Amino acid sequence: MTEPGPRLLLGAPIAAEVRAQVKVEIAALRRRHGAAPTLAVVFVGRDAPSAVYLGQILRSCRAAGAVGRLVHLPAAATTAQLRLEIELLNAEPSVSGIIVQMPLPRRIPLGAIIDTIDPAKDIDGLNPRNAGLMELGYEGFLPATAQAAVELLKRSGIPLEGRQAVVVGRSNVVGKPVALLLLRENCTVTVCHSRTRDLADHTRRADIVVVAAGHPGLINGPMLKPGAVVVDVGINVVASGIVGDVDFASAARVASAISPVPGGVGPVTNAILLEHLVRAARNQANGAAKRSPRRMGSRPAPPAPAH
Ligand code: NAP
Repeated sequence: MTEPGPRLLLGAPIAAEVRAQVKVEIAALRRRHGAAPTLAVVFVGRDAPSAVYLGQILRSCRAAGAVGRLVHLPAAATTAQLRLEIELLNAEPSVSGIIVQMPLPRRIPLGAIIDTIDPAKDIDGLNPRNAGLMELGYEGFLPATAQAAVELLKRSGIPLEGRQAVVVGRSNVVGKPVALLLLRENCTVTVCHSRTRDLADHTRRADIVVVAAGHPGLINGPMLKPGAVVVDVGINVVASGIVGDVDFASAARVASAISPVPGGVGPVTNAILLEHLVRAARNQANGAAKRSPRRMGSRPAPPAPAH
């Protein structure tokens, strides 16, 4: 008799739920302001996997009733040209959200680009202002992939409070924000990276393992605690197609739940970006982006004492 496999944490049903809500909100924005929000996707060069990913974003953007605009610069574009393009989009009122597709050509410094994106339109949470807001618990835009990894756990009903979580990877776009979000959910979080000694010693103690390292097969079954929940954020193009960072076959023999690649985090990321686009459009319409940031879950300040 074959053993029952682990529960699959599938992104599609969660993404569909998020997109349905986004569609309703875009229709409302259209009724109220006479125009749908526009997402501008800036893309430099010709990276094939990026082109596939961007195609998906633009299609789901249009399917939700928003406008998707591709701004494609040649591979030889300079930092100044790219910054100018972003500044033009920052200044254009019809554009509510801007994404700059990574990776950029090596000669373009990432910092110079993410500093240029208007924080109010930075729907993938790259700008240092959004990163700071997130760290301090204020409302800002979170990197969509990181949010998607944690939404996948939450919306799949995986209990998080008090559990040991290990995040493999510490990048600003995935690992660090995942760790912060899991802390917000009251997990006890360990962050591992390329200099971590004895990675398996950490992962074997974790109830929840989120992997975002960009190395196929980095985590396997013997590295997991029996019954662990595994979220694989990795996207690696190999000869057989697209695989994650987790050796699915061996991990599935040990884990109680695991997200597949493709089909796990990816679809949720896409839907969350649209949710951020709607929030950006609403904030801009209300002029809220210019007001002070609101603390997440905080109560309004008490009235000042009368003198
Ligand atoms: P990244 O910037 O290259 O960061 C990789 C992180 O993994 C680094 O912190 C690195 O440590 C760590 N690492 C590398 N090798 C390791 C090892 N052997 N053991 C432990 N840690 C190791 O990559 P990223 O942008 O965070 O992306 C991570 C993965 O997620 C990639 O496969 C990417 O394609 C994927 N991704 C998926 C989505 C999605 O929507 N699903 C979106 C974005 C990215 P150091 O800091 O010490 O170098």
